Amino acid sequence: MTSEPFYQTIAQLAAALDAKRLSSVDLTKAVIARTKAVEGRVHAFNSFDETDALAQASSSDARRAAGQARGALDGIPIGFKDVIAVTGQPLTASSKMLANFVSPYDATVTTKLKNAGAVVWGRLNMDEFAMGSSTENSANGPTSNPWDLTRVPGGSSGGSAAALAAGEAIATLGSDTGGSIRQPAALCGVVGLKPTYGLVSRFGLIAFASSLDQIGPFARTVEDAAIVLGAIAGYDERDSTSFQTEIPDYRVDLKQRQGPWKLGIPKEYFGEGLDPEIAAAVERTIAFYKGQGCEIKEVSLPHTQYCLDTYYVIATAEASSNLARYDGIRYGHRSQNASDIVDLYFKSRAEGFGAEVKRRIILGTYVLSSGYYDAYYLRAQKVRTLIRNDFLATFRDVDALITPTSPMPAFKIGEKADPLALYLCDIYTIGVNLAGLPGISVPCGFTKSGLPIGAQLIGQPFRESELLAIAHAYEQAHDWKNKFPAL
Ligand code: GLN
Repeated sequence: MTSEPFYQTIAQLAAALDAKRLSSVDLTKAVIARTKAVEGRVHAFNSFDETDALAQASSSDARRAAGQARGALDGIPIGFKDVIAVTGQPLTASSKMLANFVSPYDATVTTKLKNAGAVVWGRLNMDEFAMGSSTENSANGPTSNPWDLTRVPGGSSGGSAAALAAGEAIATLGSDTGGSIRQPAALCGVVGLKPTYGLVSRFGLIAFASSLDQIGPFARTVEDAAIVLGAIAGYDERDSTSFQTEIPDYRVDLKQRQGPWKLGIPKEYFGEGLDPEIAAAVERTIAFYKGQGCEIKEVSLPHTQYCLDTYYVIATAEASSNLARYDGIRYGHRSQNASDIVDLYFKSRAEGFGAEVKRRIILGTYVLSSGYYDAYYLRAQKVRTLIRNDFLATFRDVDALITPTSPMPAFKIGEKADPLALYLCDIYTIGVNLAGLPGISVPCGFTKSGLPIGAQLIGQPFRESELLAIAHAYEQAHDWKNKFPAL
């Protein structure tokens, strides 16, 4: 256990703040100092504003002194993926297209965290427009994995995972369209939760693929993830796919719900391409649950082999439509070399978007084009239903599924030059998005060379309480949360 405040959990810090053993200003100063000390090596942030953070911290301290503290998050510095809007702060999606854009409004999750008293801290690096699995597709250069600076932190929310692992924030927010919270959480040794589609409002999240995108927390522990989820979840009339459902107290729930649970092991998730050290660590996780009296059952998700293809049709189709708004007219990069209006559209987009974003727009435009729509997009939607039905069928027999989060541990920066090699990083996470389910990655060990490994638990729609309780049971019995990178 470390006594450094920047490596403590929300639960620990909230207790220290309430007991007046620590102030939010001191905590925020410690996080700022840590960030300045390691950021030259980690590069998790696109930008941060320490004056603004300290002003928020001081308001929190004043509230607490007046006996008006708003709960566990009051005074806790939380970093934001640079795709979630905060009034008056840059919002770039790590793209040249939005390099100079400042958000005029707050995302719903931002409003909710501000209302909970959190200190909104820093804009975190990511793959451009959330397209990627390594944070190498950032116009601002890559983020390094704090466990090995020559390696990627995963992506697309790589800055969110790395900042937390390096002690540059107490929790962070990311977005997950095909694995972008869970995969970097696994590669950086932290907890990452992708909520059920519709549980957390997408209002104020820069859209990538709207039927798949979901905001969620990165945290040091499952309990901390439960605290942040409780603050950001809930119906929002400004997101048309937001779902009306009662929001339980996840933090209380995760301690009250006890197993044994019935857990499913999807056989398709343990095949070719899975790193043997990861397979062994996940097997040990399964053995732990078995030892706790859980019933372990092999299950099948027969359409798994179509997940990647289905995702890359649907996600690119939606991206091509969502990214049409960046035309150089209303906001974003505008070319200075255009001869007429059509040339302005062409050049602004050619200059503003990076290679991977262009690849996705071209692919998405193609699958939606007349003559190909039925063959690709419509068919992908049908396969998506089959994929969802596979998962729902398993939930007739089991409470949750256990799988690896990522087929490989953190790889070297620059190692995967071929886009298809990178797409394979998400084979275990994409199905969850296509099916709209909640998924969480929890640390479950290290490779021999000291790289973190994550296990993924997949739950039933809107049953985050149960998913968190299952993850918490494992976490409590293991010491991974008390290991920190030597930076
Ligand atoms: N790596 C996947 C992609 O590149 C998923 C990204 C995400 O979840 N935002 O599309």
